[in-house]
Amino acid sequence: MTSDRNNPFRIAQQQFDMAADILDLPESIRAVLRVPQRELTVNFPVKLDDGNTRMFTGYRVQHNLGRGPVKGGIRYHPDVDIDEVRALAMWMTWKCALVNIPYGGAKGGVIVDPKQLSLSELERLTRRFATEISILLGPEKDIPAPDMGTNAQMMAWIMDTISMHRGYTVPAVITGKPINIGGSLGRVEATGRGVMLMVRDIARRLGRGHDGLRVVVQGFGNVGSTAAYLLEEIGCKVIGISDATGGYYRPSGLDITAMRTFTDRHSFRLLEGYSDPGVERISGEELLELDCDVLIPAAVENQITELNADRIKASIIVEGANGPTTPDADQILTERGVTIVPDILANAGGVIVSYFEWVQGLQEFFWDESDVNGKLERIIIGALDDVWKMSRSRGLPLRTAAYLLAVQRVADANQTRGVYP
Ligand code: GLU
Repeated sequence: MTSDRNNPFRIAQQQFDMAADILDLPESIRAVLRVPQRELTVNFPVKLDDGNTRMFTGYRVQHNLGRGPVKGGIRYHPDVDIDEVRALAMWMTWKCALVNIPYGGAKGGVIVDPKQLSLSELERLTRRFATEISILLGPEKDIPAPDMGTNAQMMAWIMDTISMHRGYTVPAVITGKPINIGGSLGRVEATGRGVMLMVRDIARRLGRGHDGLRVVVQGFGNVGSTAAYLLEEIGCKVIGISDATGGYYRPSGLDITAMRTFTDRHSFRLLEGYSDPGVERISGEELLELDCDVLIPAAVENQITELNADRIKASIIVEGANGPTTPDADQILTERGVTIVPDILANAGGVIVSYFEWVQGLQEFFWDESDVNGKLERIIIGALDDVWKMSRSRGLPLRTAAYLLAVQRVADANQTRGVYP
């Protein structure tokens, strides 16, 4: 349970209010953007392998449809709740606006620990959840994607379920699909690639090379492990990694390829049991406080709070996760001169390539990987450039600059469209 102070939706609203105040948004538009436009809660039964039936609860929240169909992942996690999904949906609206792709924001979630279910139970759960929220979905309406606890196979089940209902194949109803049914090359790596590009570019802008930068990554899922791997590839030294099993630290640099090979072969892709000469086991909390240049939180919300912000030693934080830093911590770190590349920019690589996947699916014309990666780089670096310039010209932290750009775009679109009827 999150305390009220760390309630993600409260935090998301607080961040929005800060931007709305600076932008001096009219009260009428502020009231629209402060809350989600649509929320669907579904309670549904799933047959378990032992013959029993269990009830599950899930959500799909559409925050704002002003700039286009809504976009955002589906999360399977035991801690999912409506306020988390509301926050994640609102963050998607700003993220899509910031990188200027034609979507509003949405998010979905099911309260479930996917590790506790068999593959066939997960398939039944996914197909039933897709059916329950199908009244909202469609390539021109709401396009889900993977998030924490979900993967390409589950996206395939959702695509198949919606296609069965319609009676024909609808690839563009979801992104993050396997390549053989219309997925995009580069989509799996896209979020981690975006994080790597942000580290490289922000280091350059701060007058430091990326070669030899000491990086610590919290989370070794799709985002954290890809970012670590790509950062190692460009010459950074990844000295610390953690996952749900704790932290792994080697000051001379970890062997990311070996760690990825290990998780590929072990249950639930966890690092439990991984050992290598010189690798020290530390706690997840200690990992965040390691002496390093760059810290990449790539796990869940509320990891950097007022309780540990003073002890963070990194001078650059690149937020691979959504909402890893609380506003209190943000303030402490900013006062200490730490540069934070905010989530709505740092982890936007995933939704950018989701957009490419959707476009390719609608056109039925597929691009090669270098085309995808090149376009991703242009968009995300362009967005960082906009944020950087705004931050420098107005003397604001990067997060505030990013919010000003994003919220203004969404407000403009909603104001241009007007209030119906
Ligand atoms: N779940 C990812 C995010 O938080 C990707 C969303 C998408 O591709 O639609 O940005």
